Amino acid sequence: MPPAVPTPVAIGQWLQRARDLGVARLDAQQLVALHVGRTRTWVLAHDDEMLAPPLLDALDAALARRADGVPLAYLVGEREFHGLTLQVDPRVLVPRPETESLVDWALEVGAVAPRPRVADLGTGSGAIALALKRQRPEWQVTGSDRSADALAIAEANARRLALAVHWVAGDWWQPLGGETFDLVVSNPPYVASDDAHLLALRHEPGSALMAGADGLADLRRIIAGAPAHMAPGGWLLLEHGFDQAEAVRALLAQAGFEAAQTRPDLAGLPRCTGGRRAGPASGA
Ligand code: GLN
Repeated sequence: MPPAVPTPVAIGQWLQRARDLGVARLDAQQLVALHVGRTRTWVLAHDDEMLAPPLLDALDAALARRADGVPLAYLVGEREFHGLTLQVDPRVLVPRPETESLVDWALEVGAVAPRPRVADLGTGSGAIALALKRQRPEWQVTGSDRSADALAIAEANARRLALAVHWVAGDWWQPLGGETFDLVVSNPPYVASDDAHLLALRHEPGSALMAGADGLADLRRIIAGAPAHMAPGGWLLLEHGFDQAEAVRALLAQAGFEAAQTRPDLAGLPRCTGGRRAGPASGA
């Protein structure tokens, strides 16, 4: 049999195909926009435009992956975070909107010193560190990650965005040696290793998501090491699971942090908890 003649498909029909596979319309439109090299607004106005191979094959392949749960950010290669376009791939967690509220909180409390020394532990794509540096160019920002792959992505994002962040490789506090910080922010792994929700996150790096049987393993290590690496008066701000706020506040109190408080995410869930290291702020 001769090979089947590829049949072109109109954009409108292709979007219907995506819908039948359960893919959100917005995601499908963005995939078309990327592949035809136009904006999503253009796609919206061109339902009758024909899609033909090889472009159509590439689109169908991307659609199949999206339908299988691959985050759109990996398929388009980028994600917007706090006004920055960050390049991402499956070696890093996709930056999430709830983490933007952690950045906002850090911007509020960071001015404890004139040129605060700020650390983003487990920076991944560099999202938090880069967002802070863009908003506060005078801050001295360090981003750490134990994954060399993640650091390569963070560094490439920093270079592209022309933001000067200091990157260090290693586990939590370990690469920071004797340095002291005025503000420390982290979105660590916090999902329990048997959480059913992990199935939906299976295309993202497990090392950025899972933290032991109760999901608190990394939060414990970060909080336990914080007093030795933070200046008096400095804030430690942490993202965590929707049901972990109380545990994180208790850990902060145990480590001698004051004023522990929790903030909700965009869905109203308690998502970030922070505390202040006891003692007067050094430079203020
Ligand atoms: N917020 C993510 C999720 O559950 C988890 C991110 C993390 O573990 N830091 O979708």
